[in-house]
Amino acid sequence: MTTNNNTSGKSALKVKEGVNQPDSVNPLFKQQLKRFKKTKVDIDAMFNGIVAGDRTMLSRAITLIESALPADEQPAQELIQKCLPHSGNSFRIGITGVPGVGKSTFIEAFGLKLIEKGHKVAVLAIDPSSMRTKGSILGDKTRMEQLSQNDNAFIRPSASAGTLGGVARKTRETIILCEAAGFDRVFIETVGVGQSETAVAQMTDFFLLLMLAGSGDELQGIKRGIMEMADLIVINKADGDNIQKAELAKREFKNALHLFPPMENGWLPQVVTASALAGTGLKTVINLTEQFESQVKSNGYFEKNRKSQDLALFEENIRNTLIDRFYQDKKTAQLIELYRKKIAARQKSPYEAAAEILGKYFSQRH
Ligand code: GDP
Repeated sequence: MTTNNNTSGKSALKVKEGVNQPDSVNPLFKQQLKRFKKTKVDIDAMFNGIVAGDRTMLSRAITLIESALPADEQPAQELIQKCLPHSGNSFRIGITGVPGVGKSTFIEAFGLKLIEKGHKVAVLAIDPSSMRTKGSILGDKTRMEQLSQNDNAFIRPSASAGTLGGVARKTRETIILCEAAGFDRVFIETVGVGQSETAVAQMTDFFLLLMLAGSGDELQGIKRGIMEMADLIVINKADGDNIQKAELAKREFKNALHLFPPMENGWLPQVVTASALAGTGLKTVINLTEQFESQVKSNGYFEKNRKSQDLALFEENIRNTLIDRFYQDKKTAQLIELYRKKIAARQKSPYEAAAEILGKYFSQRH
């Protein structure tokens, strides 16, 4: 990159032609060109850094993708397009469970084991609480300390701006970048309290639910729908006094799962006990994920699922873009305000008002 900065004095406007001055190009144009070049260079450098597995560059690229600045949108999309052909080669694991169930401890132990087996592990998070408030259930404390220091791991906390849909979209794009950077095991962690599980299930290949034994209400606020999505239920913290209770819970969950309809992927959901602290059960969990992976890859479900996720993404993108454009349109925003008042004053019905605004919005575009 050229670094010829500020050699031209205060104003280039007074410079006469032919006089020994740096150049005759409009400095504003030069500035713009430099900015343009900088963007170009950054994207290329970011892309090269990512495919070379440079985690700092990957981090910077994710920040660019998460940026809400309109100026960052185009370069971010350019980067994603470049990375797309290098993506898709990971096994994506969704993990959910209530706060305190031991997700980060479990993922850390799981991740370290996978790294021992030669994998590269990325951990991303979707935290519904951090989207509404600044606080986060998944915690701002340094989580997974050992894993985060490992050269073959990459940990990124949840993007905390916007709606669930917006954050989910950015997480999907982040997965693409991580895969392009060579991470072949991608964990998407979320808290088992909201709708984020569905979003996570829609972007992963395998869904793991962490539960605790013996706290009375076995469902612990986890909705039946979430249990139905699980390919594997892990009764966690099965150590010390908890071992027996965990075994009991395991049997109960197994029985409960029998009542659910069979899964489309042909896989029989499993229930196991584990303890990251005691180091038990993890091997079984890894074996099961490997078994699952080879089963769905050989029966064609893996591809089918990824394709249907792509189609859902396509439609979601159309929907989101339409909604964004509509609400960002200044005229429309004014009209919405006006119609709100009219509706409140009972001068218009909500149906009429919506139809009129939509009609105006679409006709101004044709
Ligand atoms: P998260 O909120 O789901 O991410 O849970 P954490 O991983 O932060 O763990 C919550 C608490 O449970 C911490 O105090 C951990 O030390 C503890 N914990 C995590 N895993 C285990 C385990 O396998 N056995 C026991 N006994 N405690 C655990």
